[in-house]
Amino acid sequence: MENVIEVKQLVKSFGNKTAIKNVSFNIKKGETFGFLGPSGSGKTTTIKILTSQLKATAGEINVFGKSLNHLKDPSYMKKIGILTDNSGLYDRLTIYDNLSFFCRLYDVNEKKIDEVLESVNLLKERNTVVQKLSKGMKQRVTLARAILHTPELLFLDEPTSALDPVNTKQIHEGLKKLNERGTTIFLTTHDMQEAEELCDRVAFLNQGEIQQLDTPQNLRLKYSDSTITLLLKGNRTVIVQKDEAGAETIYQHMKNNEVISIHSNEPTLGDIFVQLTGRALT
Ligand code: ADP
Ligand code: MG
Repeated sequence: MENVIEVKQLVKSFGNKTAIKNVSFNIKKGETFGFLGPSGSGKTTTIKILTSQLKATAGEINVFGKSLNHLKDPSYMKKIGILTDNSGLYDRLTIYDNLSFFCRLYDVNEKKIDEVLESVNLLKERNTVVQKLSKGMKQRVTLARAILHTPELLFLDEPTSALDPVNTKQIHEGLKKLNERGTTIFLTTHDMQEAEELCDRVAFLNQGEIQQLDTPQNLRLKYSDSTITLLLKGNRTVIVQKDEAGAETIYQHMKNNEVISIHSNEPTLGDIFVQLTGRALT
């Protein structure tokens, strides 16, 4: 499958501090790719480099098959959407006027504004000035702006960090729809549930290095332990090994009609991250 992003041996130093050490990864067309790591691990730095807001110290980056150095042109900007913390919204303008300004800049029909506002749950607030909005609302306006032109490639830096669970869920549904319609998504998060929910593959970033890169399912399998838990009638729990003796035990309990549930003990992405790095994600 075609790669939308190719990053080879990326390094970024700030003075004598190296924030990104030697990072390589590819993102396929249509994928939702997650960069997962705790605060300070280099997520924002990576997104800023990929969106030409920061210059890499070393390494090779291709986006849409072209070197990043050639991508300053407006046709590239029209193909990508960016949500980072530096929102760039006009505080004195209404939500609608902010988005309308963006429409003119990017040749988008203004009819699209209300549709996108609906998807981020802000239609009722369309005529409110931005400076009156909460942090979470501003985050949703920034997201609306990032997806207004239906970008081919969307960069999201912790898109739901300021949101409550209800809005987070709605944003997740919106991002899934966008992805189903073909938008490739590069997302950073320290929220492992968000990554499980949205990402086809995740990279675990720790102190500027990728420590694992795979599908959430493969990672869970790789780090699952070798036991199975049976819940039996009478509120009894039995843990067996995934071997012949374990199979025999499960068989006997099933034969005696005692089994309520059986599940293998798979870790969450958060558990795996802690196991690998000794650090929690949040
Ligand atoms: P994350 O987004 O994962 O929280 P960042 O990419 O913001 O991490 O930061 C990675 C590291 O680089 C941190 O140690 C941070 O202090 C450092 N860093 C980021 N931006 C700068 C900068 N402009 N100058 C100096 N150090 C920076
Ligand atoms: Mg960050």
